[in-house]
Amino acid sequence: MVAVKWLVSAVAGRCTVGATLGRAGPAWLICPGQAGGAASATEDGAGGGKPGLANVSVVSFIPLVVSARNQRVLNHPFYAALMASSDRVDEGATVVVGAGSAGCVIAARLSADPAHRVTLVEAGPGLVASDLDGALGGADFLAALDVPNRTFPSLMATRATGGPASVYRRGRGVGGSSTVNAMVALHGDPELYRTWGWDDATEAWARIELPEELADESELGAVDCALLDAAPDAELARLTRRDGRRVTSAEASLWPVLDRSNLAVRVDSAVDRVLFDGRRAIGVLLAGGEVVPADRIVLAAGAIHSPAILLRSKVDTPGVGIGLQDHASAPLTLQLREGATGAPGELAIGTLVRRDPWQFLPMNHLGQDAPGFGLLMTALMRPRGRSGTVRLASEDPLVDPHVDFALLDDPRDVAALVAGVRAALELLAAPSFDEIVEEVYIDAFGTTRSALRDDDSIERWVRNAVGDYVHASSSCAMGTVVDDDGRLIGYEGISVCDASVFPSIPDVNTHLPTTMLAERLSARWLRAAAP
Ligand SMILES: Cc1cc2nc3c(=O)[nH]c(=O)nc-3n(C[C@H](O)[C@H](O)[C@H](O)COP(=O)(O)OP(=O)(O)OC[C@H]3O[C@@H](n4cnc5c(N)ncnc54)[C@H](O)[C@@H]3O)c2cc1C
Repeated sequence: MVAVKWLVSAVAGRCTVGATLGRAGPAWLICPGQAGGAASATEDGAGGGKPGLANVSVVSFIPLVVSARNQRVLNHPFYAALMASSDRVDEGATVVVGAGSAGCVIAARLSADPAHRVTLVEAGPGLVASDLDGALGGADFLAALDVPNRTFPSLMATRATGGPASVYRRGRGVGGSSTVNAMVALHGDPELYRTWGWDDATEAWARIELPEELADESELGAVDCALLDAAPDAELARLTRRDGRRVTSAEASLWPVLDRSNLAVRVDSAVDRVLFDGRRAIGVLLAGGEVVPADRIVLAAGAIHSPAILLRSKVDTPGVGIGLQDHASAPLTLQLREGATGAPGELAIGTLVRRDPWQFLPMNHLGQDAPGFGLLMTALMRPRGRSGTVRLASEDPLVDPHVDFALLDDPRDVAALVAGVRAALELLAAPSFDEIVEEVYIDAFGTTRSALRDDDSIERWVRNAVGDYVHASSSCAMGTVVDDDGRLIGYEGISVCDASVFPSIPDVNTHLPTTMLAERLSARWLRAAAP
């Protein structure tokens, strides 16, 4: 029992590693061959390239103003006058905020047009090929999550209304969550995209550069194999890997174009807020106080941090941070028999069952903190509840927002998750699981599956045990906060393009759908800008 308690707290609290956000000052990722326009764009430290735009007095004055972190001072007429003059707007300069699944694609696609000068601004560290030689490139995403600086160490979230807040994982640094995710590669229901009016989704899927590779049977763990035996509809997972090695969004889309003279990547530079002249975006303010002027801002900081940036920017578009979703999940913890235990470093997830509206996801091991345990997770892939929120905890850009997923506020989701857990328990009753599972635990106190006698007891359990699926989504939803092209409603020169803008959460794991979204909107923007 002690082991189980330790296990659950270890899993729940896996994110105590990593440095704090905003360490050191701004740093530049040195891009090969970037001696031309991008160098001139960076030397003034303002991401622009047009002489005079990054007026020294602006850049050196603003930190003094902002260091007070005082909205009253920020709104001072002198500050407004400095930023409001339209000749400070750097024409043709786009700032993309966040170098994750979406941001890497957007920066690559927009910079393909020499008319755009793109600066990709990322809160976390850069990513080079040798970073993938270790845990980040390996089969075990839990080990990737343990790599310092690659997640937001202090980000917490409440899963069910009134429940406790605990760590919520988001990737940080170039590659974003694609650098630490479980690599499961799914496209989702084409009909769902059609109902959103995304008739160009098929073209966008075709442009995606991420590889999809089936998990190799030789690397499957005991839980994978038991699931394949127990469920006729179990399948080998498709993973965003090549030759068994993780391929991040940075490698797929950004690295191949880093030599473009009109593309600069700025790392270790958290964006505080967007600056406006009236209702027109004219630049971003970095957490260190520096201003990066631009005539176009694309927020791609993810479903937690994009709304937080908009809230700090005091935009008055209704709905920002409201409607946050994730796939509600329920974990059944498997104590594995000797000989069936997976080892840290090995493939954590190699199979899955898609059984609409659920996904059953096995884990062959739970990392180095919990030897001898695995998991069978039930996830609700079409949740109805929309009462999740992202709210500011502080005006300080280095303080993560309050996140409340309110996962079971809709009674239909409770009923669907209960039915899913029932199906998971049936899977676990198969002989293939008997062979490898010593005991199934449902909490940190050593309560076993025998406590899940009927729907009432399952419901009581899921209300306490409900977890997320690390698929935060829809907190700046299309149709409410942004229009069909991702433009922030009520403003000019600012768009949002990341998992926050899905009209509702996709019915699959969100990395590939987010990539498709970024391909889709980038193409629309380029088409609209074409002469
Ligand atoms: C542990 C884990 C496992 C997952 N497993 C899977 C899976 O197996 N399959 C799947 O399909 N999906 C999975 N996902 C979900 C998927 O990876 C995400 O939905 C997707 O990557 C989101 O893309 P995004 O572009 O919206 O955000 P992200 O990729 O998270 O990128 C956001 C970027 O913005 C940066 N940023 C944030 N704030 C600021 C700021 N203020 N200034 C500048 N930059 C900022 C961040 O550092 C980050 O690099 C997983 C996610 C996690 C965390």
